[in-house]
Amino acid sequence: MAPRHVSPQVSCVVPAYNEERNLLLLIPRLADRLKSTGRSFEIIVVDDGSTDGTVESVRGLQDSHPVTLVRLSRNFGKENAITAGLARAHGEAVILMDADLQHPLDLLERYLELWEEGFEMVYGVRHERADQGWLLRHLSRLFYRLLSAVASVPIPRGAGDFRLLDRKVVDALQNLPERGRFMKGLYSWVGFKSHAVPFEHDNRHAGVSTFNFRRLFRLAVTGITAFSDLPLRIWTGVGALISTVAILYALFIVGRTLVFGVDLPGWATLTVSILFLGGVQILSVGVLGEYVARIFEEVKGRPNYIVAEEIEPHTEVLADWENPAATGSEAL
Ligand code: UDP
Ligand code: MG
Repeated sequence: MAPRHVSPQVSCVVPAYNEERNLLLLIPRLADRLKSTGRSFEIIVVDDGSTDGTVESVRGLQDSHPVTLVRLSRNFGKENAITAGLARAHGEAVILMDADLQHPLDLLERYLELWEEGFEMVYGVRHERADQGWLLRHLSRLFYRLLSAVASVPIPRGAGDFRLLDRKVVDALQNLPERGRFMKGLYSWVGFKSHAVPFEHDNRHAGVSTFNFRRLFRLAVTGITAFSDLPLRIWTGVGALISTVAILYALFIVGRTLVFGVDLPGWATLTVSILFLGGVQILSVGVLGEYVARIFEEVKGRPNYIVAEEIEPHTEVLADWENPAATGSEAL
């Protein structure tokens, strides 16, 4: 495979897990949009171990569209699929976008304008999602409130993975060696000059979201434990408080016994305090376990993803899409 001599200006990375129908619609539209901006571009679809015809869809599209396929060896999750896409992207700017048409293509032009104005990261902030139920919406709100209270960097709610990253940002992200990747936090952590663009979240075109409650909960735990050590430290405070109360109570009992003599009842107090302390201890061991598990994950040093194959589009197809400005009616 001949290496590309010039890197494209824009790379668009699309993580896809069971998106055969959505990709057939998205890729042609996306390619047209990018072409109409007059910049050279590439599209990279990362197949995250799909079990449907996602790979075949992309292979079919490669006959007519400049789209590269990175096929992961199994499902590694969206965060890792994005990481794989970023590793492959050569563009001066990289745009991340979902495959399900929930991210409006109309914003691409605006993103690129802001990038040219000097913003190193441009991200979409969606209004409240209409496709989530009441409970999930409220839990999500609670999560972000909790996260903003404890996290070491501010992580805005509603700012997702629909963003443009300058090459500098991509390199910075790729240099973070951590495994438990909570991308929303990492974008904030790396910093850079950023600009938010509000947008409406469209409905998913085909298929269903794979982020069920269990997956979101795991992601939330990863988010909190990756960006805060407060859950670990809080137990020092809780322990100190409980010990102080226990000492005061002990003094009170000694005093009362000295004044009023021996008093037998008190088993209820005893049971409650044993249960309470037992609960607190198990809880704190659980929190410790969460962090130990993360350390274990990091120490094992396994890669975040494994690429099974990478398939470039045909060179003739690429040639067809080059020199984008002077084609059709747009050249007038
Ligand atoms: N995705 C992925 N790997 C996964 C789950 C999802 O690459 O394990 C992709 C999916 O194909 C889509 C994007 O991540 O392009 C967002 O997924 P989804 O629409 O399920 O999530 P939601 O929109 O509910 O956040
Ligand atoms: Mg979606």
